[in-house]
Amino acid sequence: MDLFYGTRRLYEEDAYRTEFTARVQSCRPGEGGYRIVLDETAFYPEGGGQPCDWGTLEAAHGGTDFRRNPETAPQFVRVWDVQDREGRVEHFTDGPLEPGETVRGRIDWKRRLTHMREHSGEHILSGILCKRYDCSNIGFHMGKEFVTVDFSRLLTQEQIREAERLANEKVMENVEIRAEYPDEATLAQTAYRSKKELEGPVRIVTVPGADCCACCGTHVKRTGEIGPIRVIGSEHYKSGIRLTVLIGEKALADYAQKSDSAAKISALLSVRPDQTAAAVEKLLEERNALKLEYGALKLRMLEEKADAVPTGQKAYVLFEAGLSVTEARKLADRLQDKTGFTAIFCGDDESGYRYVILSKERDVTAFGKALNEALGGRGGGKAPMIQGSVAASRREIEAYLRRQGIDRT
Ligand SMILES: [Zn+2]
Repeated sequence: MDLFYGTRRLYEEDAYRTEFTARVQSCRPGEGGYRIVLDETAFYPEGGGQPCDWGTLEAAHGGTDFRRNPETAPQFVRVWDVQDREGRVEHFTDGPLEPGETVRGRIDWKRRLTHMREHSGEHILSGILCKRYDCSNIGFHMGKEFVTVDFSRLLTQEQIREAERLANEKVMENVEIRAEYPDEATLAQTAYRSKKELEGPVRIVTVPGADCCACCGTHVKRTGEIGPIRVIGSEHYKSGIRLTVLIGEKALADYAQKSDSAAKISALLSVRPDQTAAAVEKLLEERNALKLEYGALKLRMLEEKADAVPTGQKAYVLFEAGLSVTEARKLADRLQDKTGFTAIFCGDDESGYRYVILSKERDVTAFGKALNEALGGRGGGKAPMIQGSVAASRREIEAYLRRQGIDRT
């Protein structure tokens, strides 16, 4: 039996390796399929904020002949998760492979390259922020849509934008990114960022002039491969800040989408794209002024409506869609000495009705209680005015009122 101490990690030696051959050390059934350990692998196991690789493993069947043999199927398995288990890299697959067998592995390169760009971009941005503004990076997550990075203290928008500008400059400088295991003496002399205390050999990833950090992840060779870095959001997180960052192709796609959208808005507003924010502000001011004017007009209209109701009318019932409860109360107030009973229903059949009922002649509290019971409503108040809401249609409300001897006039 072979002695096996741990998986040789080919991705550490060459992050651009997409194919490799290896021997199956073990294969056992596990959650969702099988767990396979190889003597060496280019598959990156989830860790250090970087998601795992996906890909395939294919059996060679005792040699270098990778052609399919239907008698010994399955020979081709999909790798859908990769985890580090005490030095061994476990590949979670949808099928088994024979221990001792030679296999060819292929990783999903598009997925990996995205992770490499994002990881390298995150190092540059975090390195610059931490050094310039004396904070530390306390979290890092690469999601499907964006990367989040957490820092130990709050940062201003100006600081974030400045670090973003410097990070993009570093990308355009196209400097080489180095990953190495320095000897103990060199490591002791090296000032590097690290999220935790590390034991054993420490892998240091350096971006000259931007960052030096302990890291197990995969990185691009030169910063120029990263592409644009853009912070699209920030929020308070613990006692610090969480930044949402787009890197590489995701930043480009976001830029394309936002500039298209800005062009559309600028055409709609007939202003230059860089003046849309000011134009929208102006539009909102105008809208608010119109709203006030509309409110005043509506109130006047309601007053006229109330004034047109003859004094001594037995009952007055109104259904009005665009009326607020405050407006309904004002109207009811204006009618209180003219009518024996006033009921105003604000709303429509779809969203339901809110009501204001005022009467000096009837016991409105009891009336409201019965109304709520009959029409699935709620609310109440003190005589002579009550208010609430009902979940009934206008027809149902009118029928109920008629049964109570209340007609429109
Ligand atoms: Zn890292």
